[in-house]
Formats: sequence, structure tokens, C-alpha cells
Amino acid sequence: MIRRAKATINGIVQGVGFRPFIYQLAKKRGLGGYITNTSTGVDIEVEGGPEEIEAFFEEIHLRKPPLARIVHVERQYLPPQQYRGFVIKKSRAQAQRSTLISPDVSICEDCLREMGDPRDRRYRYPFINCTNCGPRYTIIKDIPYDRDKTSMASFSMCEACRKEYENPLDRRFHAQPNACWECGPTVCLHECTGRPMDGGDPISEARKLLKSGRILAIKGLGGFHLAVDATDGAAVQRLRERKNREEKPLALMSPSIEKISEYAHVSFQEAHLLQSPERPIVLLRKKEGNAIAAQVAPRNCCFGVMLPYTPLHNLILQGGFLALVMTSGNISEEAIAVENGEAFRRLSGIADYFLVHNRDIYLRNDDSVVRVLGERVRMIRRSRGYVPVPIALDRGIRPTLACGPCLANTVCLAKGRNAFLSQHVGDLENLETFGSFAMTIEHLKSVLQIDPQVIAYDLHPDYFSTQYAISQRGTRRIGVQHHHAHIASCMAEHGISGPVIGLAMDGTGYGTDGTVWGGEFLVADFDGFERAGHLQNVPLPGGEAAIHEPWRMALAHLHHAVGKDLFDLPIEFVQHLDRKKATIILAMIERNLNCPQTSSCGRLFDGVSALLGLRDWASYRGQAAVELEMEMGHGEGSYPVMIQEEKPGFIIPCGPVIQGVITDLIEGLSRGAISRRFHNTLVRVFVDACLKLRNGRTLNRVVLSGGVFQNAFLLGELERRLAELGFEVYTHSSVPTNDGGISLGQAVVANAVLDKRE
Ligand code: ZN
Ligand code: ZN
Ligand code: FE
Repeated sequence: MIRRAKATINGIVQGVGFRPFIYQLAKKRGLGGYITNTSTGVDIEVEGGPEEIEAFFEEIHLRKPPLARIVHVERQYLPPQQYRGFVIKKSRAQAQRSTLISPDVSICEDCLREMGDPRDRRYRYPFINCTNCGPRYTIIKDIPYDRDKTSMASFSMCEACRKEYENPLDRRFHAQPNACWECGPTVCLHECTGRPMDGGDPISEARKLLKSGRILAIKGLGGFHLAVDATDGAAVQRLRERKNREEKPLALMSPSIEKISEYAHVSFQEAHLLQSPERPIVLLRKKEGNAIAAQVAPRNCCFGVMLPYTPLHNLILQGGFLALVMTSGNISEEAIAVENGEAFRRLSGIADYFLVHNRDIYLRNDDSVVRVLGERVRMIRRSRGYVPVPIALDRGIRPTLACGPCLANTVCLAKGRNAFLSQHVGDLENLETFGSFAMTIEHLKSVLQIDPQVIAYDLHPDYFSTQYAISQRGTRRIGVQHHHAHIASCMAEHGISGPVIGLAMDGTGYGTDGTVWGGEFLVADFDGFERAGHLQNVPLPGGEAAIHEPWRMALAHLHHAVGKDLFDLPIEFVQHLDRKKATIILAMIERNLNCPQTSSCGRLFDGVSALLGLRDWASYRGQAAVELEMEMGHGEGSYPVMIQEEKPGFIIPCGPVIQGVITDLIEGLSRGAISRRFHNTLVRVFVDACLKLRNGRTLNRVVLSGGVFQNAFLLGELERRLAELGFEVYTHSSVPTNDGGISLGQAVVANAVLDKRE
């Protein structure tokens, strides 16, 4: 008996070697029929014995190419048609396009082998790629994904490359960035003035320069990196000074897991992450007495490390380096540079030399950052390698644009059951990043073919992203509270619905009452929330300025806890206070001048960190809190904080925490022990608050979100304790718990609000 089956497959099935794979599979099983790309995926017809057909479909799932992702398969049976042989048919263009775009993918094993083979025609070619690897998202201008719509359009393939490109049995069949020495992009080394250097192989010259302590700007996949030998302390220091990045840890790139293991602990799971095709930066615990310069990650117990992900990186790293610093090519928090001209203009004050190439980057895309906590992958920055793979929603939503928050911005475009979180856009604090924000939105709208009917935005009236949203005509605009968005983001990630107990702990977010929230206990659903409780309000002296100056928070908390007598306290923090400045701040607090009230948990961490003498000034966001966590030692005990019943919600007072810290300081307890007690206190009181909310309302699901939950101890202990008490606990994994996940929450909340209205 002969049968004929027709299947429509959606997902990432184009540009990933799917058609040649199907072709070979059909041939092997002796099936006739065809495969063709459509604008939503691929269509396949196969004809043959029923068993062969079954085995064929089974094998698609089992052996699909590494980059293919199958989201949906629809199969039907039709009368046989007597196909003679199996063919790959030309693509059909259709009006509706919803095929997914592949993210950029690190070089594959096959290409790596060919690049190292002196007999191969691509021996040492820095842009080698195939259907299983190479640039994708960052070189795409428009869809469908064809070479003429990528930045490879300006290179025409030589005969040998074209042959591979057209042969369905070749690994480079329709590999859009296919290229070789003969026809493809090339690298070139420049002086910092922009003048090209002549003679020699640019890559080995670059290695020599790195070896001699020079700073190089290197063009990568999603932008420029600044590179320096990570074992050369003086060079790293010079980079820090020029980049104006005083203490924030710098990312490392090492040639192999073996090399990484020389200076950091790598678990099996972490090794797997490092080697995954996404090649993220993975946070790894430092080894004692390692050979990496101390300036790379001062006062931090981790290094952020990645493996080389482009052929060019691999060639550079073959120079015998233990590790290179590979930090994004920007000054401080500006957007990463992508164009050659732009890089020369912006980075000439930092880099001594430039290693550039002539394949354009259409889309900026920073390296992603992840870590493993509690045996789960935690996304810290979801960008290159992961974007634009959608987050699957458990319910369909309207075509929506969510504009995200102000800091660590991402935007989200969603339609149906797919939510596309954008790459990391960064802090929307200057016109340049705002330009990149607007461009990211336009680009995503066009490549994803989503025309938003709904725009979601943060309630803060002054945010760039809010103003952008308000200015968009012809769409329905919905403001979403920051912490509600945090909780909804985690709910959407897990496909759960409310009501839930939501703990949103972070730096700052605009509250519905105009105060600055950040230590929130919500009872939340997608379409709304109730502020069931919060950390006690204290003044935020000078508003934003307090974020960079944790000592101001310490003063605010001290003033709140002990009043005017604070100058008499026999603790170092007070003794070292700049009296003049402190008096001004206290006057501001007392007269309520430029001192918005805040319930921020992040700012409480800042205050305690400064009180312990760890950090008065922060050179990057979250530094004081990170150092307070790093300082933590062992020990029992906590401070006597009791939840206070108030109308309408409850309050968690901060006074007893601060008084406890002061007492311990006076009694000479170590910083490590005090930090531990502080952490224990938060865990205990957060658990108490959850119990209280469960009792009152039979709520059993707890959702943890917000930047504070990047704190490994707090997250781990809370998860454990709450689970022991029978709560179902949900925490972030593939979506960042920090503000990078906000846009997803905004999108789902806006839709739920509209559903309710209709
Ligand atoms: Zn490859
Ligand atoms: Zn070629
Ligand atoms: Fe936040």
C-alpha cells in the first residue's frame, strides 16, 4: 500500500539546513515528494509505504539539524499522486509571513575543523560559516531571509561558493552568509587614527599587539569589543581608565574549557552552557590564586567568561592566551559601537588599534550573560544567541509593542502566542541609546511583521520610553506599573495565571501613588494587582543621585532609625562622614526637599552596605548590594523585625534592621556576620509575609521577581523555605529577573487589561 502525507512545519526551519536534511531523509527512506519553503515555515509531501512515512516523521524530530526548532507540525493524508523521486521546490511567496528568524550562532565543529585544515580552501578564513552556524539576526535587513536582504548582499559568491550554495546535499546549501577567501569579507588592521596598516597578516599582527599590552577594538558579531590581555594588570588598568569604567567586572574570553578551569570553577552544567551554540558569558566562581589580573573583577567572587564564538575570535585566541578581556566597545553605559566609522570616532580615545572587517552589522547585539543558580540557568542579559527566539505564551495576545523600562531596557513585540523580547538596548539616558531604542522597534516590527495595535509603557512620566509610547498615534496605549510588570513577566514565563503572591524586590520603579516603589508584596493577576504590603518608606535624598551614592541611603536609614542623635553613634560610618555634606543631606530630609519617599529593597541593601563601610559610592548599578552579598559569612540569627498591620496594606519596618546592624557594629561583630544576619532577616520576614497573605486568602503561588533576586543567597533561601512550607514558588530562568524582563510583563498585562475592558 502506498500513502501520501502532507505536512506543514512551523518554527525555525529556514536557513538552518532543514531542506537538505529532509531531502536526504526522504532519499534514505525511498520516499517521493517535495519540500518547499513557505512564508510560515516549510511544506513537505512524502509518498511511500506507511511504515517508511512514520519513520520519516519520527526521524525529523530525532535528528533535525542543530539549529532547527520545530514549533508546530500539521499533517494530513491525501490520495497518492505517484511522485517520481524527491525534490526541493523553489520557495513560494505568500502574503502572511510568520517564519521565525534564527539568532546568531557560534561557529560549528565542522567549520572549525575546516578552518584548521591547511588543505581546505577556507583554511584560516575568518568568516567561514555553513547552514549550521554563523551570523543571522545581526545581518538581516528584511525577510524572507535571503542573501540579498542581508549585509552579505554586497559580496557576490565565487563559482566554488555558488556551487555549494546551490547543492542540496552540501552543508552550505542556501547558507546565506556563505563566503571564502576569494569572494567574501576580509579583515584589516588600523591604527587609532583610522589609517590602515600595511603588510603582514592582520590577525597575527593583532595577536602580537595584544601580547605587548595594547588595547584593541575588535569588530565582532553584534558590535565592537575592546580587547586586552587579561593577565596584564597594567593593560587592564589602562583600559579601565580610558573606558571610564572604574570597577564593573570585565568579561573574559578564553580559548577552551581547560584554560577557563585554570582560573575559575566550571561545573558540568556551566561547561555545557559555555559550549552551547548561544555562547553566552557565564558567571563562574574564581579560583584562589588565579593568574587573571586583579583589575578584571575587583571585589567580586566571579568572573564573566565566554568561549570564542566567531571564526575570527577563534583565530585570535589561538595566540596562546589564557584569556582576553573582551568588554563591549563603548564608553561606560553608552550603546556598543557597530559601524567602522562610528567605532573609529567613538573608540579612538580608548583603543590603540582597530581590527575591523567589511561585513556590516545591521543590528547591535551585546553578549548575553547567564549564571547557574540552584541548578537552573538564570538569564541576566538576554541578547546575542537568544534573540529573536520567542518566549512562548500560554494564551494568544493582540499585536503588541511593550516599550520596557528606562534602565537595562529591552522592548517586546508580541503577537499570538509568541513574545519576542528584543536584544539588550541599555539605559535610555541619552539620545544615542534612545536612537537605538527606536531603531530596534522599527527593525523588529519589520522582520517579525508585527504591526502593533497596543502599546504598553511604564507609568513613569519622564521616561524616554513612556514619551515614545505616548507619541504613537492610532494605537491603544496602556500604562503598566513597574512591579506589576515584574510579577507578570515571571507568570508569563511559566504560563501560570493568578492570583498569585508577588514579591517584587528591586531598585526603583514608579508607584501608582507617585512614590518610588521597590520592596513590594503584591496580590497580582495579569489584569490588575493590589499592593498588599511593602517595605517601609524612607526618604531617597536627592532622588536619582542617591542611587550612585549609597552613603546617602545609609544616612536616610540612620536618620529614620535613630533620629538626630546619629552623629553620636560610635561607628566608623558616622566617624568618617563628611559632616558638611551630611548636614546638608539631613536638612534636605528634614525639610522634605527633593526627597521622594521610597520603599525600595535595593536601596535598603545600599544603605546597609554603606553602613558596614563597604561602599559609599557606586561606580555601577547594584555595586553596593553585590558587595554586601559577596561579603556575607556564615552564621545564624536575624534582626527582630515584625510585620506591622496598616491600612490598606502591611508595612515591613526598616528601623529594627538598622538598629540591629548598629548594635552589632558597636559590639564588633564582623561585616560578614552582619551581612549574613541582614540576609537572614529578609528571608525570615519575606516568608512571614507570604504566610500572612496565604492565611488571609488561600493563595499558594509565590512569584519572585525584580533585580534584588539576582542575589543568590536570597533567591536560594527563599525558594527553599517557601517550598518547605508548601508554597508553589516561581522564579525567573529564561527571562531576566531584572528590568530586562519588564517589557514581557508589560505586554501581557496590557492585553489582560484590554480583555477585561471589552
Ligand atoms: Zn558551520
Ligand atoms: Zn567564495
Ligand atoms: Fe525593576
